[in-house]
Amino acid sequence: MTVPVTEIFSSVQGEGLLVGCRQIFIRLYGCNLKCSYCDTVLHEEPDLCRVETAPDTGIFEYLPNPLGINDIARVVERLAVGLHHSISLTGGEPLLYSNVFRELLPALRGSRRGIYLETNGTLPGELARVIDLLDMVAMDFKLPSVSGLPPLWSKHGRFLEIAATKETYVKVVVAEQTPSREIETAAGLIKNTAPGVPLVIQPLTAGGTMGISPARLSILQRQALKILDDVRVIPQTHKLMGVL
Ligand code: SF4
Repeated sequence: MTVPVTEIFSSVQGEGLLVGCRQIFIRLYGCNLKCSYCDTVLHEEPDLCRVETAPDTGIFEYLPNPLGINDIARVVERLAVGLHHSISLTGGEPLLYSNVFRELLPALRGSRRGIYLETNGTLPGELARVIDLLDMVAMDFKLPSVSGLPPLWSKHGRFLEIAATKETYVKVVVAEQTPSREIETAAGLIKNTAPGVPLVIQPLTAGGTMGISPARLSILQRQALKILDDVRVIPQTHKLMGVL
């Protein structure tokens, strides 16, 4: 079995509840959505996948796509997998390739906490097929005001129900124009579906600056805290650190 991969590298997780943890990132190609703020190259499947040859070297080699399961496992092993908190499956939307997970994920052994899925939270059927193989799920709720997408609440709700059988949290990207009712809907959906799940509010960053004022961010957090116990504001830190 093969899968198109954009890149594989070792770095520090810059978003969400695992911020600061060392992970190996496997970025799978392609996505089922088109968010207005997307910074991932999605237009055409890359002929080559870039893979880091050793942690922190910044030296990459290029392997022809799509990659076989054994090729991916070999690259992960070479990056000193045992020093890593976990392996992050990211994208794009990794669940587009849920059909290879049953073969791929057992081959990715050796990290300290297992497999961490970063997902846009819109493919509940695909998640249901592979949830038993995952250790942690970081899922998005896409807010229409920022993503430019239509509301996806019902897909997110069904997805969260399944994700919450594992360690999980929900992330929302917010900007100055995010209305209070969107944060309230997001918090309400968590409360009604999986009440213990944390909500991470991530300010939109573009060109190195935040797309929301600190005052507005604080208001949105307080509004969510009226509904949920655990609501955290966590900006993207990898951009500050200048790491991948
Ligand atoms: S879900 Fe993520 S990868 Fe897909 S379009 Fe949105 S920001 Fe880009």
